[in-house]
Amino acid sequence: METIYALSSAAGRAGVAVVRVSGPAAGEAVRALSGEGPGRAREAALRTLRDPADGVALDRALILWFGGPASFTGEDVAEFHVHGGRAVIDGVLGALGRLPALRIATAGEFTRRAFENGKLDLTEVEGLGDLIEAETAAQRVQALRQMEGALGELYEGWRGRLLRVLAHTEAEIDFPEEEVPGDLTRKLAPEIDRLAHEIRDHLDDGHRGERLRDGVEVAIIGPPNVGKSSLLNRLARREAAIVSDEAGTTRDVLEVRLDLGGVPVTLADTAGLREAAGAIEREGVRRALARAEKADLRIVVAALHAGGGLDGTFDMAREGDLRIVNKADLGKLDLPGVIPVSAATGEGLDRLEEALTARIGLLAGDSERPVITRARYREGLQACLEGLQRALGALAAERETELVAEDLRLAARSLGRITGRVDVEDLLDVVFRDFCIGK
Ligand code: GDP
Repeated sequence: METIYALSSAAGRAGVAVVRVSGPAAGEAVRALSGEGPGRAREAALRTLRDPADGVALDRALILWFGGPASFTGEDVAEFHVHGGRAVIDGVLGALGRLPALRIATAGEFTRRAFENGKLDLTEVEGLGDLIEAETAAQRVQALRQMEGALGELYEGWRGRLLRVLAHTEAEIDFPEEEVPGDLTRKLAPEIDRLAHEIRDHLDDGHRGERLRDGVEVAIIGPPNVGKSSLLNRLARREAAIVSDEAGTTRDVLEVRLDLGGVPVTLADTAGLREAAGAIEREGVRRALARAEKADLRIVVAALHAGGGLDGTFDMAREGDLRIVNKADLGKLDLPGVIPVSAATGEGLDRLEEALTARIGLLAGDSERPVITRARYREGLQACLEGLQRALGALAAERETELVAEDLRLAARSLGRITGRVDVEDLLDVVFRDFCIGK
């Protein structure tokens, strides 16, 4: 196994930068740069680093040592905590690069090694990726939970149970004389049914985890000049959209990212929905409609006239959409279920934000239990569920045990692909653990 190294902190000047080395030559790298072998594991050693080529000092740095397998990658790992200046980092990376046993790591290679050495399963790897990408508090909570294994444990738990069921069918295939017909169904169907039920329950999450990970899409829609851009600016607390009293200034879809109650939200101001005059404006309307169609939530805006009466309608509003009447400063209006606001005076905006945050809370995230965060998991779980249902059908129809076993095997493999732990070896392990085959 080659020894790899890389700058693990972000590029650019900083107080501290971390250079990580992983592999069998990590200890040699410590000796080459600091003149001494690694100190005790997980204890910081303050040493002067020198370029082994000419003995010139590079930095005074902290060295952390993690002897494999008790390390992030499962290999020997050294971390050099150096001062985060360009010349220091270049000097340390250059010196490491000139050591014969070392080469620079490729993207994600440390984590890849952690996975290959069984330190992290794929859901944990992906949770770690999400944690680094997390922009809001709720995203962080979800990613951290996944990185710490909540999803992986759930899926591996189901797979373990499935493998035990499978082991029973395998045993019957190998020793058919010991089973009474119909016995297998009686024994296994309830557990398969329970598993299917739990997986179905987990799948039925309203895509909350995926939405939290990707962000919730909110579209502001309504006719021109009702104040959609003004509202977007208010919600974004900056001048993101150009506000004008000339109809049709918002020719395209304009977006701002907001953090509402810890959930990342993309708020899109769309071109006014009206009979468009020019080709560009027509394209704007087309995009607005497409955007509104795929948004998770829509804010349908109408506005009061100075002379009384309403611009716009709520005809296009769907269940779950927020309905608001803007320009409440121009008069009075009391419609049930409609929030009066004024982008001009700020009146009603607290209520709008509250309502918006509450709706978004219903759409995304879950603080109680681990949720599906990726389509990949959903597909794997669905495939697993289908396998379980086919197995139940085959059991009920008293089909050959081999057919039941095949469906269960496919179901287990679908789960195993999610965590990346698919392996026939562990099926054999279960068979040997739960049964005395050698009897
Ligand atoms: P959009 O076309 O729906 O995006 O509307 P804009 O945000 O561009 O606003 C259209 C016009 O309405 C502008 O002249 C705004 O200044 C005005 N406007 C927006 N919100 C309010 C409001 O709450 N009260 C009043 N009186 N005028 C507003």
